[in-house]
Amino acid sequence: MKNQLNNFKKKIDLNIKNFDTILLKEPYIQDNQTKTCSLFEHLLVDFYNICFYHLKMKTESIVKYDCEQQLRLKGPPIIIVAAVREAEAVANACAERNIAVSGICDSEKRKSEKPFSGLKVYHTPDLPKNFPQARFIIASQHVQECADQLIDLGYNEFYSPLELLKDYDVNKYKHRISSTFMRSRLDVSKKSHEYYFDDSKTYMRSLDVMITTKCSLKCANCCNLMQYYKDAKNTSLEKINSALDVLHKNVDYISEFRVIGGEPLMNKDWANVVNSISVKNSDAKIFIYTNGTISPKEEQLESLQGKNVNFLITDYGNLSRSIDKMIERINKYNLSFDRQLAEDWIDCSNIKHHKRSTEELKEVFKQCCVKYIYTLLHGKLYRCPFIANAANLNAIPDNPANYVNLLTNSDNIRQQIRRLVKNAKFFPACDFCDGRPYDPSSKLGYDGRGMIAAGEQVSKPIPFKEYK
Ligand code: SF4
Ligand code: SF4
Repeated sequence: MKNQLNNFKKKIDLNIKNFDTILLKEPYIQDNQTKTCSLFEHLLVDFYNICFYHLKMKTESIVKYDCEQQLRLKGPPIIIVAAVREAEAVANACAERNIAVSGICDSEKRKSEKPFSGLKVYHTPDLPKNFPQARFIIASQHVQECADQLIDLGYNEFYSPLELLKDYDVNKYKHRISSTFMRSRLDVSKKSHEYYFDDSKTYMRSLDVMITTKCSLKCANCCNLMQYYKDAKNTSLEKINSALDVLHKNVDYISEFRVIGGEPLMNKDWANVVNSISVKNSDAKIFIYTNGTISPKEEQLESLQGKNVNFLITDYGNLSRSIDKMIERINKYNLSFDRQLAEDWIDCSNIKHHKRSTEELKEVFKQCCVKYIYTLLHGKLYRCPFIANAANLNAIPDNPANYVNLLTNSDNIRQQIRRLVKNAKFFPACDFCDGRPYDPSSKLGYDGRGMIAAGEQVSKPIPFKEYK
């Protein structure tokens, strides 16, 4: 009996310890200090989480896998969600099967200004005016979020395009992006949908491996907060590899690795990082995000030949002083790249304690377009680049609910990672962020200035309030 009581007590203690790291930490956010929660409060939080989990499952089951036969049947108009690159392939696959599509919807209002793949684009909130009833094929990799948003608008018929894309031949069509890039996008998208149907797995669609906080440019509105760094640093190859090893053991699958900075080429080990990711994750896509200011060394490019590596080069005009030389070298080694003009950005780099209510925080998180951009920085895993850099700069109070320290000897690291990945509410750090909504023209869950010019430079680091 005594043993049983002790075991029971141990279980409760363990639960309390775990609940203490549950991310719904309203007292912490409001008072900026941790409160000891009573067992009753913990149980309430637990109850909330169980209800939330079941509601989520209910939403998940509403997205159907088998779509081909259903969509051929007569019924409400068919809409593709959203105007992402892979939507072009979904539209082609529908045309091949004589499935008539009535349009595409997207949460970004600006995308509704012109047709996409020959189809009219509707701003998602306007859908009910145009289509009181509709069936949806979710082309976006964010299956859950899209379904949730459409359920809020009163719809209930959703399909994954997995079945349609099964035998899709990328080479048969001329897409808006290169065939190699489309193939990469589709591979990542298919994995996202497959893992969506298997909630027992811990899956990351994308991981930003931030290998340096140094940048050769200093953009005033850098969404990764580089403009605030006074003592920017590279992360050592050993530290990056150790953290990646922990992720490799504890995450079921990561579709794409984005090697970023700052400017990743400022870390002399950038090619070694890329090579070690490639060895351990042979079928994952690796993207190197660069600003075209530094030309990579030939031997570094040579070491990447035959690997699943793509350069994403942002063209900042005259500021991208080495872009032509970089492209010439990348071509010489037959590596894949995509050059994109730095167009307008969403203003989202302000750091301010908003003191929002729980409901407001949930809305900010719900609207956020980068909440699945998991970020690895100096051995810690974060949910987004804003949290990673705000925490690293000490621009927000240190709160373990914001991250998982991968380089500790904790025996429940897998659980901690899963909790960070599956959290669908908000993080304490979100209260310091203006928000980064899909649609900045809507004021819902956003306190920024909307669209701003990309790439404006500052001459020195921007001051901010530090939490010691
Ligand atoms: S180039 Fe500009 S936006 Fe990109 S990381 Fe550097 S400072 Fe940030
Ligand atoms: S709202 Fe939260 S998850 Fe989204 S960018 Fe801001 S801090 Fe990150």
